[in-house]
Amino acid sequence: MVPRDLYPLSSAEPPFFVGIDLGGTNIKSGVVDNQGRILGYAHLKSEVEGGPEAGAERMAEAAANAVQQAGMALSDVTHVGLVTPGTMDIQSGMLLEPPNLPGWDHFPIRDRVSQHTGLPVAYANDANAAAYGEFWVGSGAAYSSMVMLTLGTGVGGGIITEGKLLDGTNSHGGEIGHMIIESGPDARICACGGQGHLEAYCSATGLTARAIEAMQKLSQSERNLLGPEKDLTPLILHRAAEGGNAFAEQMILQTARYLGIGITTLLHILDPAAVVLGGAMNFGGADNPVGKKFLTAIVHEIQARALPVLSSNLSLHFASLGGDAGFIGAAGIGRLAYEQHKRV
Ligand SMILES: [Zn+2]
Repeated sequence: MVPRDLYPLSSAEPPFFVGIDLGGTNIKSGVVDNQGRILGYAHLKSEVEGGPEAGAERMAEAAANAVQQAGMALSDVTHVGLVTPGTMDIQSGMLLEPPNLPGWDHFPIRDRVSQHTGLPVAYANDANAAAYGEFWVGSGAAYSSMVMLTLGTGVGGGIITEGKLLDGTNSHGGEIGHMIIESGPDARICACGGQGHLEAYCSATGLTARAIEAMQKLSQSERNLLGPEKDLTPLILHRAAEGGNAFAEQMILQTARYLGIGITTLLHILDPAAVVLGGAMNFGGADNPVGKKFLTAIVHEIQARALPVLSSNLSLHFASLGGDAGFIGAAGIGRLAYEQHKRV
């Protein structure tokens, strides 16, 4: 994934921060300035199968490459932010038992990356960091508090209140996908094993599963319009809805209604200034007719359910940083740690 144009070092505002976003496939690393502008970027394959010790070295290598691209040295950097998928213990900087990083259990990832880079490292959950990136320089930048829901294979999330990212006591703050939105005996089962969770309805997996079930009631000729069930994806439903397929549109708008239920609860609990929707499942974004209908349907559901003061002041946006949000947010978390350290 190529980030937007690099910002010239000569115009950048120090101090500088490095963000490292470790995923199951790629390590993305970027150097940003004090305003969150990208000065350098590099990525490497994660090579998870090589184990965590080699992985920590590769993360430091990615950081060094990004710094080099910016025309800087690692010693010009003030703080690193490292973000990974869970499960994790943020306080101690440990990975616990991350399903996406097999063989990396109980690894002190924060301190190893610190040893290899020679820099202090702040550590956070990747979904939370993406939310922080959007809050710092993306769709949430104009607001003092923000909730993000990331719609992908699962539903992730992050909560920022008064400029602070909510990690939670057990490093599970902002697990919005596991909010219960349906409590009946027929409620859908989530990937986590729980019942009636938002993710079971509103993730790409949840939408696809609901659509395949609902297709059983269609005629054969209607089903043929959507192709083989085993190949169905939200993108196929999106394209069909763009082409005027009423069933596909109905399935997408049902997803919006479930999201509206979940977001209503978030508004009642947190009263955030903005709600941002990230992740690959954005139906083309706000400029696409389907993406626009999706947003409108979420707003209508919230208007029908939330306290009027909350629904009438709601700011709901799609995310704007795409795949860069993780490393930018990671760098932002490094910056927060630096600011906090400075005050002590
Ligand atoms: Zn769940």
